[in-house]
Amino acid sequence: MKFDSPIFDKIRVKPSQDRRPKAPGPTCEWAGCKEQGTHKAPKGRGRENEYWRYCMKHVREYNQNYNFFQGMKDDAVLSYQKDALTGHRPTWKMGTGKRGKRSAAEELRAAADPFGVFHEQKAQTRAEPKVERRTIRNAERKAFDTLGLEIEASAVQVKARFKELVKRHHPDVNGGDRSTEDRLVEIIQAYNYLKSVGMG
Ligand SMILES: [Zn+2]
Repeated sequence: MKFDSPIFDKIRVKPSQDRRPKAPGPTCEWAGCKEQGTHKAPKGRGRENEYWRYCMKHVREYNQNYNFFQGMKDDAVLSYQKDALTGHRPTWKMGTGKRGKRSAAEELRAAADPFGVFHEQKAQTRAEPKVERRTIRNAERKAFDTLGLEIEASAVQVKARFKELVKRHHPDVNGGDRSTEDRLVEIIQAYNYLKSVGMG
């Protein structure tokens, strides 16, 4: 058989439009992303051979939140990513002037002690308070309330309560339930606040 005949050449140089793949690989699985899924990210414990397909940017983001996403159901992970996109998160406004646009995952990452609560690590940084004393007092009261503590609770008690609450409201144990996510955001923000003023 002659493969260099003009007929074969014609077939080779004129493939039909439909048969050309639109994209050379899988698409990034991050909610709302249309990039190429060039990187594999493990889904976590108990799912050893399962991977997400992400673009470079999102594999980084996933890896930064790995401990948080680990063990979550796929739809819970996707819903977190979607929330981060739209930024519709409940706000816990303190004297800092920051608007609460962050997801629980982002709050955890931003926390001075992001995942340390699960690893018994000690945070090393402590921010200087910048708000006036009266605002601080109201903010402290609110933060202690959020953690369900009396205002005279010690830093040790604050930390212990925080750990307890994060474990209770962590999506790992709540199947990504939205109401507990929202509560988790409040808890983290309250704890961060107390920490920032040296009370946590
Ligand atoms: Zn992506």
